Amino acid sequence: MMDKKVIDLMNDQINKEFYSAYLYLDFANYYTDEGLDGFANWYKVQAQEERDHAMLFAEFLQNNGIKVSLKAIDEPDVPIKKHADALKASLKHEQYVTALIHKIYDVAFSKKDYRSMQFLDWFVKEQGEEEKNAEEMIRKYELYGSDAKGLYALNEELKARIYSPPSLVLD
Ligand code: MG
Repeated sequence: MMDKKVIDLMNDQINKEFYSAYLYLDFANYYTDEGLDGFANWYKVQAQEERDHAMLFAEFLQNNGIKVSLKAIDEPDVPIKKHADALKASLKHEQYVTALIHKIYDVAFSKKDYRSMQFLDWFVKEQGEEEKNAEEMIRKYELYGSDAKGLYALNEELKARIYSPPSLVLD
């Protein structure tokens, strides 16, 4: 039987992951409006991954006989004025999500909930990758984004990102 605190945090995490998808869709919309379809593509793929994260938490709870409770998703509330703003906001957001995952891990650890810890291991690693990706986007933009040719090339590169399902499969 899972501890109530772990269950509540995982239910909240479903909502946070959907919020992440919403936030990245908002960034994709911003880049679409700016005519940067490669950046928009990158964020649309990112939004799909966030939805996958939400579904993994839901499936894990259900596999453990826990009822999932879905809550209202907040409106994206990060104002974007310049091209670099969304990239910087993404890194900040991923650092926040990492802290949320670590918090759930802390509680699971304190309750000796080894099954949840094992499930969360994937997310700990995933957050490392998310932060690295966000840092790389900022770095690339700083290196190449300041002139039209560089921005064009970077936009073309980001157009190539394709969605692939998460490597974690629950059974
Ligand atoms: Mg996520």
